Amino acid sequence: MQSKLLSIIPNSMNNDRLTTLQQINSDVKAHHCSLRSGCIQAVPGEGNPNSEIIFIGEGPGRYEDEQGRPFVGPAGQLLVKLLNEIGLTRESVYITNVIKCRPPGNRDPLSEEIVEHADFLTRELDLIKPKLIVLLGRHALGRFFPDEQISKCHGKAKRRGDQVYFTIYHPAAALHNPNLAATLRDDFLKIPAVLKAIDKLPPVAVATVKEAPPLSPIQKLF
Ligand code: URA
Repeated sequence: MQSKLLSIIPNSMNNDRLTTLQQINSDVKAHHCSLRSGCIQAVPGEGNPNSEIIFIGEGPGRYEDEQGRPFVGPAGQLLVKLLNEIGLTRESVYITNVIKCRPPGNRDPLSEEIVEHADFLTRELDLIKPKLIVLLGRHALGRFFPDEQISKCHGKAKRRGDQVYFTIYHPAAALHNPNLAATLRDDFLKIPAVLKAIDKLPPVAVATVKEAPPLSPIQKLF
């Protein structure tokens, strides 16, 4: 029987990519990390591997752990609502997490757990090569920019090398703190403009990739 994941992958996806994604997902499901004994199942990323955008959350919560799919609980419903507001659906983008297993009681992931799972996310990014990486919340931000604070860099796009990142508050944070809900929505609604701005950015010279400044010209737009 066709899996739920396969049923949402567009027909246009080429077979090599499909095979690679299937391999990543089966490796996620089969892995044994320090969190595995305390959760029901590992939760692979999901969605369109040809997407220009990848959304990266923290890690599975209770509902994700039960269903084996990312962002299917209340935070996921808010994410889908915001996606719809900018004309996207969850099937049209790719959604994943920094860690693939639920920490006990939804506690914050430990740095060693993030390291244990790092390779899965790296492989997803290598496969998808998104135009834009949207970092949902401080743990996703910390995975890529460990010295940055979400309160200072949310709603801003930055380029490192030839990759553009856009940080927003985690939908779950907005559900717990209504003061953040409007900020999250305002930031989210900038995504189409960020995508357009990326198209106009000059390519990064290979020689400058390593030394690229952490903040890119694109940041001045927002
Ligand atoms: N929060 C996350 O960070 N990821 C999920 O998949 C669900 C909730």
